[in-house]
Amino acid sequence: MVDKKDIAWGELGFSYMPCDASYVCDYADGSWGEGRLTPDHTITLSECAGIFHYCQEIFEGLKAYTAQDGSIVCFRPDLNAQRMADSARRLCMPTFDEQRFIEAVKAVVEANAAWVPPFGSGASLYVRPYMFASGDVIGVRPADEYQFRILVTPVGPYFKGGAKPITITIADYDRAAPRGTGNIKAGLNYAMSLYPYEQAHANGYAENLYLDSQTRSYVEETGGANILLVNREGRLVVPRSHTDSILPSITRRSLVTVAQDLGMEVIERPVLLSELVANDFVECGLCGTAAVISPVGRIESEDVHVEFEDGCEQAGPVMTRLRETLTAIQSGEIEDTHGWVYKICD
Ligand SMILES: *Cc1c(COP(=O)(O)O)cnc(C)c1O
Repeated sequence: MVDKKDIAWGELGFSYMPCDASYVCDYADGSWGEGRLTPDHTITLSECAGIFHYCQEIFEGLKAYTAQDGSIVCFRPDLNAQRMADSARRLCMPTFDEQRFIEAVKAVVEANAAWVPPFGSGASLYVRPYMFASGDVIGVRPADEYQFRILVTPVGPYFKGGAKPITITIADYDRAAPRGTGNIKAGLNYAMSLYPYEQAHANGYAENLYLDSQTRSYVEETGGANILLVNREGRLVVPRSHTDSILPSITRRSLVTVAQDLGMEVIERPVLLSELVANDFVECGLCGTAAVISPVGRIESEDVHVEFEDGCEQAGPVMTRLRETLTAIQSGEIEDTHGWVYKICD
């Protein structure tokens, strides 16, 4: 047991605080090097590095936290490893071995154990693996050299005053092209979402809901979270994309299994915006690693006004139950029958 840092864990927000060590591994001459921990949280690159010009960059996000028994764990890191490899292939970047990815997460979290918030604080150590083109590129082509890094930083509880439903809006812009890169976790998908995100904020909305860009009639996801719906029959409805432009959220995939374990019927299918407008759904939530589920109370835009009946003033019963069940599995308060919780150290 290491001595924890003297931090007001419950007061932490979501901002970067450098910790003791980051993980770094370089790719050159066709293979990945050894990989090591470093206390250096800066990167020095050539002005011609591929990342600066043609944006070869991908990332992942997961959290390490203290379980009820005091051990430090993370949640399904194998799926982050897989997804990062899928992202790498799509951007012509070298894949980082999935087993090595998990070992690197373990090593960097262990080295920063003093920064992992204690059980019950609601805070966690955010783990951000990422990879970028470090080799020089001037003509358009994939770089020859890459760096894979993992930074960690403690972050506070996502919901400080309970999970209050948010109001989101419909973006005028599109997030992902059909057969584009919406299904991978790449920085480029975020660069172009910043403008609509700032607009949504300026208009008083918490997030943008994106529609499929081909027909603008199906709901896809928000800028950084998948959506879940509950219909009038109490079934969990999970939007699918005809064009595979929704990011495969690990939280969403886990919640689908949790819902089935709880005896709920789950339907995964394309969902029309018009179904939401017709009030076919009584609850809505956004799911991702940070919040697990953020309840959505309303969707508002010029011509859309949706209020989710069972989850408007406070989180609805289904979203609440799903969130509580998944967080209890994560913390070890409920048995982890699927082997999702990965132990890092005691
Ligand atoms: C990361 C991300 C999510 C959430 O995925 P999790 O694996 O659940 O954290 C959803 N949508 C987008 C666009 C994302 O980048």
